[in-house]
Amino acid sequence: MRTTVGIIGAGPAGLLLARLLHRAGIDSVVLESRDRGHVEHRQRAGILEQGTADVLRAAGAGERMDREGLRHDGIELRFDRRRHRVDLPALTGGRSVMVYAQTEVCKDLIALQLKEGGPLLFEAEALAVEGAAGDRPRIPFRHQGREDVLECDYAVGCDGFWGVARRAFPAALSRVFERTYPYAWLGVLADVPPSHGELVYARHERGFALLSMRSPSVSRLYLQVPPGTDTAEWPDDAIWTELGRRLETDDDWRLERGPITQKSVTPMRSFVHEPMRHGRLFLAGDAAHIVPPTGAKGLNLAVGDVVTLARALVHERRTGSPDLLGTYSATCLRRVWQAERFSCDMTTMLHPAPDGTPLDARLQRARLERIASSRAAETDLAEAYTGFPLG
Ligand SMILES: Cc1cc2nc3c(=O)[nH]c(=O)nc-3n(C[C@H](O)[C@H](O)[C@H](O)COP(=O)(O)OP(=O)(O)OC[C@H]3O[C@@H](n4cnc5c(N)ncnc54)[C@H](O)[C@@H]3O)c2cc1C
Repeated sequence: MRTTVGIIGAGPAGLLLARLLHRAGIDSVVLESRDRGHVEHRQRAGILEQGTADVLRAAGAGERMDREGLRHDGIELRFDRRRHRVDLPALTGGRSVMVYAQTEVCKDLIALQLKEGGPLLFEAEALAVEGAAGDRPRIPFRHQGREDVLECDYAVGCDGFWGVARRAFPAALSRVFERTYPYAWLGVLADVPPSHGELVYARHERGFALLSMRSPSVSRLYLQVPPGTDTAEWPDDAIWTELGRRLETDDDWRLERGPITQKSVTPMRSFVHEPMRHGRLFLAGDAAHIVPPTGAKGLNLAVGDVVTLARALVHERRTGSPDLLGTYSATCLRRVWQAERFSCDMTTMLHPAPDGTPLDARLQRARLERIASSRAAETDLAEAYTGFPLG
């Protein structure tokens, strides 16, 4: 099998890259190890920066998002039983975010790819990337029990944190920066209208809690738990009781309960692999970097990477110049490190660490007080939350 751009992984990064290349007349093949149902139902991100929503619209993939997505103009910080609303457009010259689940972004992009784009093979597992430093990378893969090879001009690893593409970088070239946080998130999906119209980020001495939503009738809620927690340790009643405690305020706000339809535990990690390019192999999205989900940046970073890469590939096709491919890694990493900083700041401000001291607790409160009382500090948060410019 032969193509111009061989893409490993049909998460948001791989699917959007294939779509952008198709619109520019560049052919690609996408290999995805899991089946379609798995990719379309894996619960993950839900907040799209304004720039991400704009990119999806420009790619012809925004129609359902604009119909069913929820535009949000603010988030709420809760601490000491008090509430502070951050007005995003007022602080950023009109920018907002969109609540539209990653599952839905993937469904929209898969439908478009199967209808109009190049091959998208499910249950096709890439086994390696070979010859990245040469002229013609090869991706051996296994599809429906048969082994085959995808030959391409460029290979792109959009295969997430556990993928194979990163392993093709020579050890002497790779630099890894990593931190694992001493807590995890227990996430639940519940068939109940959200108890608040906007996302609520709560710091409580018992731990962090997040009230979020997928639609006007489905809530997405998270609790800080110890790493390695088993969902079986958390019966539904215990989850609602704990959410109620951590989100409680001094006014008459109440948490609505409903049937919990899904539970999962997510570890919290900061991770960056530098560089994001080796010869004709490029990394994009979670394959190159992970942020703790508190800043809602992972999916948005993946989108930023593939927009930068598609632009560089189109530039090379139209002008013959590899300049933008040469600067791909540096361009992406500037944005990645800003998102890493913001995600780490939000995480460490809102999660009491298990070995945290009373001093740490006071400092977290002071950081929250600063945001609640200084327009400059609040603007810094709002600018980062609504998104860094695409490189
Ligand atoms: C609980 C949770 C909440 C989150 N909340 C947010 C949020 O609110 N906002 C936000 O922006 N981000 C959020 N994120 C992060 C976001 O989901 C990820 O950053 C995003 O999925 C990255 O997309 P990706 O395409 O790079 O990788 P992935 O979505 O991981 O896709 C990689 C794909 O590659 C496939 N693959 C792997 N190995 C191979 C192989 N060898 N061959 C073929 N295919 C392979 C995988 O099956 C997968 O489909 C959250 C994540 C979690 C876990």
